[in-house]
Amino acid sequence: MNVQEAPEPDFTTHPPAPRIADGLSKIAKVIRQQAWGEAWGRGLTPTQGQVLMSLIHHPEKRKTLPEIAADLGVSKVTACLTIQVLARKRLVRKERRRRVLDKLYVSLTPKGAAAAAQASQWTDLLVPIIQTLPPAQQVELHRALVRLIVTLQERKEIAVSQMCVTCTYFRANVHGNPDAPHHCELVGKPFGDGQIRLNCAEHKATTNLVQLERWRTATA
Ligand code: SF4
Repeated sequence: MNVQEAPEPDFTTHPPAPRIADGLSKIAKVIRQQAWGEAWGRGLTPTQGQVLMSLIHHPEKRKTLPEIAADLGVSKVTACLTIQVLARKRLVRKERRRRVLDKLYVSLTPKGAAAAAQASQWTDLLVPIIQTLPPAQQVELHRALVRLIVTLQERKEIAVSQMCVTCTYFRANVHGNPDAPHHCELVGKPFGDGQIRLNCAEHKATTNLVQLERWRTATA
């Protein structure tokens, strides 16, 4: 094909949303390969991997079946079947605590904790790459990601994260310092958009979305 016949690249002025979605999908593919490449090689499915990750991120490393189902955004039946397989593989154990309303708890075995810890190391790959961006761009990126995650949660497309912007203790834009305009009532400290947490163990979900809307309006 000569130069004159080559198709012209499409440099239209359309908003870049489709290209951003394409870029995120490429990054997600790398993450999946890095995180679960070896685990998949050992016969783990993505859902089984997500259960292990859900457990390792919990402070007590154990959760009830409904908590795991909600975390993954799957039915209790799917969560139950997945846990049964993981228990057969000796990656999780089930424990029934009669004094706690006879709840069934699922926790990681040492083998499951090792698999989850290995999978969570994908951040080792991404962190230095993200750090090549200027600090202001890193904050912008984090802010954009939080906005996207909140919208996905509102549309019930993903499991709910324990993020500052949906927390009872979050106060948006109450300080004059542009680097740390927000406040956490629990610890009594200011913080900025770059420090908004995605998985805070102290998170307490709120149904009053005034603070979220205040934050979202200010970052629009
Ligand atoms: S308790 Fe955690 S999630 Fe809530 S505002 Fe404070 S740091 Fe954020």
